[in-house]
Amino acid sequence: MSDPSPSHATPPSIVVSRHPAVLHKVAVLRDARTDPKTFREVVRELSWLLGYEALADARLRPLRVRTPLGEADAHELADRIGLVPILRAGLGMVDAMLELMPGAQVWHLGLFRDERTLRPIEYYNRLPDSATVDLCLILDPMLATGGSATAAIDVLKRWGATRIKLINLIAAPEGVAAVSAAHPDVTIHCAALDSALNDRGYILPGLGDAGDRQFGTGHRE
Ligand code: URA
Repeated sequence: MSDPSPSHATPPSIVVSRHPAVLHKVAVLRDARTDPKTFREVVRELSWLLGYEALADARLRPLRVRTPLGEADAHELADRIGLVPILRAGLGMVDAMLELMPGAQVWHLGLFRDERTLRPIEYYNRLPDSATVDLCLILDPMLATGGSATAAIDVLKRWGATRIKLINLIAAPEGVAAVSAAHPDVTIHCAALDSALNDRGYILPGLGDAGDRQFGTGHRE
């Protein structure tokens, strides 16, 4: 697991947040006793914080605004942003991102993992015919094998997307390696980099199934 130093970029292209607020919230998410309502709230809060970090290099346009006391030089976001939540677990990350970027478009992409092969299967795609955004943020709480993330990036690049970032809450080294090998231009932003995957493709120690924990559909002990 990663060290608790400040946010840092680790080669090839992963940024693991080390903000104390992020670390605090990750502990709540991991805790098996956290109920779905709290879990959803914390997914939302972490998404906002990671989105904030991921936007650090977004392009700006200069702007003049009139304050009550005079004129000020200011800026507005120039990048058209597309949010691409991976169904279903990525849905819980959308609202926070829209708070941060109210003008963003949301394109849904449905990928599920074949539990036998662990390969992604695309079952839903609502992208328009051609890319209409400058920066795509793929939202998926867990970067496990990297199969879904790589498939989503493939789809977005075929669609015409040129700048893509991946926003995950927890990543596994296997997923980071897979995405970086296939798409070295894509930066991964996450709140934690864990140690490994188990034989069912779950991140260790992770937090379990991010979809089940948000939507209350898992087995309750
Ligand atoms: N998806 C999840 O929800 N959890 C994991 O640990 C891996 C993939």
